[in-house]
Amino acid sequence: MAEKEEKNEIKELAKKLLNDDTHGAVKAGEEELSKANTFGEGYKAFLNCSKTERETVSYAVEAAEKAGFTAFDPQKKYKAGDKVYYNNRGKAICLAVIGREGTKKGVRIAAAHIDSPRVDLKPIPLYEANEMALLKTHYYGGIKKYQWTAIPLSMHGKIVRRDGTEITVNVGEKPGDPQFCITDILPHLGKDQMGKKLGEAFTGEDLNILVGSLPVGDEKGEKLFKLNVMRLLHEQFGIVEEDLISAEIEFVPAFQATDIGFDHSLIGAYGHDDRVCAYPALRAICDCELPERTVVTVLADKEEVGSIGNTGLASEYLRYFVADLAAQDGLEARHVLSMSNCLSADVTAAFDPNYASAYEANNSTFINHGVGVSKYTGSRGKGGSNDASAEFLGWVRRVFQAHNVLWQIGELGKVDQGGGGTVALEVSRLNAEVIDVGVPVLSMHAPFEVVSKLDVYMAYKAFKAYFETRVE
Ligand code: MN
Ligand code: MN
Repeated sequence: MAEKEEKNEIKELAKKLLNDDTHGAVKAGEEELSKANTFGEGYKAFLNCSKTERETVSYAVEAAEKAGFTAFDPQKKYKAGDKVYYNNRGKAICLAVIGREGTKKGVRIAAAHIDSPRVDLKPIPLYEANEMALLKTHYYGGIKKYQWTAIPLSMHGKIVRRDGTEITVNVGEKPGDPQFCITDILPHLGKDQMGKKLGEAFTGEDLNILVGSLPVGDEKGEKLFKLNVMRLLHEQFGIVEEDLISAEIEFVPAFQATDIGFDHSLIGAYGHDDRVCAYPALRAICDCELPERTVVTVLADKEEVGSIGNTGLASEYLRYFVADLAAQDGLEARHVLSMSNCLSADVTAAFDPNYASAYEANNSTFINHGVGVSKYTGSRGKGGSNDASAEFLGWVRRVFQAHNVLWQIGELGKVDQGGGGTVALEVSRLNAEVIDVGVPVLSMHAPFEVVSKLDVYMAYKAFKAYFETRVE
């Protein structure tokens, strides 16, 4: 009897003092799991029509206008509850809902990125070799090149013709569309390739996309295979070869988003990084009615190449947008930004049992344990990272707890294994408090990444709680 009592006492003590390691699905419960499934359906539909930054901005504008947002006009006077957006060149977007207190105590920002690793065309891409037509490419972002061969690709982007007219391109997504691919050598003849290191077996110049195999006409001649593809492109888009110079054409995996696992608990798709945070952050602001403080969702471009360029967050457009909101209240941007805070909404690496040695299990994020919080990112001794303050992380904990957000803390892999960065660094330059909050991903940066529906839904709950909370 005494022994049993002692056992119970120890159990109680452990419950009181130690971290709760109950499985996330058990903590969340049936009702939340069912909501996560419903949310996942919307997310998959979004993924299938938003594979590039341009397509994601188009989707966001449409969703925002449906939710009552209008294009921001700095000359106009806005009141609490008004919803506005700023479309930056069709590749990035800032959305805001004016709070009851406006910008007086700072604004709350959720910042996600909407560009993903992919294969871009070079300015003069089309050529032929040995009776096949191909496109030269320049990859974008951190890819493992071998993963991009022998998979179906689709073509997305914008072409500006010599007369200035703009053509939007999307080939390979609709039923009946052709798709494209980068070929690989058969194992039977792969001796030379197999003898190389993984990182050296494919070079950037090997990533040439197969786009045709028939010549034009029935005479022998020069460049007839190339000419046939150009003839078809001219028929479909009215372009000539030179128009491909003023173009941004991105080849991305042609896969559709799909459930993974017998239990349908996971979603496999291209571009979870970082649309899996962009979608919840967009939905959270669209569903936010009358917050206390003004709230902002920014969906940024160019994170995968260091946030550079005028649509990346190293640009000033977020600061300008907040400055315009501050001006509405007669305040200076620098004062508002210094009181502001931000959830840098980007993915983190989910613990993968196939590669367990790359992680430190006590400090990793796990599939189905909720939205992941990273106090810092970076590499080699937190280099190049924003290390969130204990005070701000303490506040975020209280917010998540008060709003029943399932969340977990983790680092990206074990110390000195590698590392990564997010837009947190760019936002911290504005003197705002920032912390990384995002969905754990398996196979990050692969053409086909995997996330958990429960974690995606918890990201939505996290951003919504952050926008609406009264926790001080
Ligand atoms: Mn990312
Ligand atoms: Mn990334």
